[in-house]
Amino acid sequence: MEETLLVVNCGSSSLKLALFDGEHRKLASALAERINQKDAFARISGDQETITLPHHASHEQALRVLVSAFRERQLMTSSLSAIGHRVVHGGENFRQSVRIDDGVISAIEKCSELAPLHNPVNLSGIHATCKLFPHTPQIAVFDTAFHQTLPRHAFMYAVPSVWYQDWSVRRYGFHGISHGFIACEAARVLEKPLEATSVISAHLGNGCSITAIRDGASADTSMGMTPMEGLVMGTRSGDIDPGLFDYLQGKGVNAEELHQALNRKSGLLGLSGETNDMRSLCKLAESGHDSSRIAIDVFCFRLARYIGAMMASLKELDALVFTGGIGENSDLVRETTLSHLSLLGFEVSTERNRTHGRSSQHRINSDGSRFPVLVIPTNEELVIAREASRLASPA
Ligand code: ADP
Repeated sequence: MEETLLVVNCGSSSLKLALFDGEHRKLASALAERINQKDAFARISGDQETITLPHHASHEQALRVLVSAFRERQLMTSSLSAIGHRVVHGGENFRQSVRIDDGVISAIEKCSELAPLHNPVNLSGIHATCKLFPHTPQIAVFDTAFHQTLPRHAFMYAVPSVWYQDWSVRRYGFHGISHGFIACEAARVLEKPLEATSVISAHLGNGCSITAIRDGASADTSMGMTPMEGLVMGTRSGDIDPGLFDYLQGKGVNAEELHQALNRKSGLLGLSGETNDMRSLCKLAESGHDSSRIAIDVFCFRLARYIGAMMASLKELDALVFTGGIGENSDLVRETTLSHLSLLGFEVSTERNRTHGRSSQHRINSDGSRFPVLVIPTNEELVIAREASRLASPA
């Protein structure tokens, strides 16, 4: 029988679906936005038409509408062989993807405390597809799983250790689906076995993180207990001095306001005062908008610092890899970042960096660079489809 795989990625106000065939080729995708709001809508890729969803449509309602739309358009002609879900937090329970059963659902529920903004919505997606496709194998693919190889010295915070024992306070890391994919792709490009490949993977999208991958496994990463630690991001601050909490409390800022400000009003948006969108910032900076230039400079400097920090986890470095919307598309970000790293021997080729995207070349370093620098597109949906297919088939 022909294989069709559905990939589900639930965000707090969005639902992304992708359909793949048995060869893992993408057949279609769809995005529902403003879920649980009065003006929810959806779009199927390649379609001009916007699909209006019921007022305050839930993830389940959006899923039903989009699955019917796939069927009407003959995009989903056979029954589904597996459904793969992106799940943000697997805590220490999940070192790899798993087939979902009641035990897995309650373990994901337990991790909700660690990711209150993400795991409950991921579970809404799981419950919705279980209702709609009760006989189809469902697979959970975790953002944290790839980082379960972090050594203790990289995952422990220097705080009272009882916080780890009693409350699971530690660094978990995120974007693992992407970093794991980049490790495999880099190994392929470099023609090395994965177990012998060591790279630094910089995933720069709306959320940003960087991972040191040593012999194919995560050895250090910039995100921590939550996806707020580390690099400057679209609207998140990344690292800040914890002393700021006290200081701002003294100014009358309460914990909730602080959380909102650091999560939603900081990063590129906070610095520029204009937008969290790097493409727009690059245009603004070009036209002389000073705070957009500052936002890009802080973003790149923090990234460069972290690239240096990741070296502490590696014995050798086969390549530095840029990925994610910004990493794949912004030659300015790549060049500015690498300009801080000449002491480490990184050297960009202006020409290769600028023309990247117009050729199939991954390499953007100059011939004299001590380390290769690659640009490799990430594909988290493909990883989830592959995992769903692998775990749905009987061993
Ligand atoms: P998400 O984390 O939501 O998946 P993406 O990986 O799609 O996000 O990355 C979105 C970011 O990529 C945005 O800041 C966007 O402006 C940026 N981006 C996309 N194309 C370009 C470009 N040509 N130049 C600079 N930034 C770009």
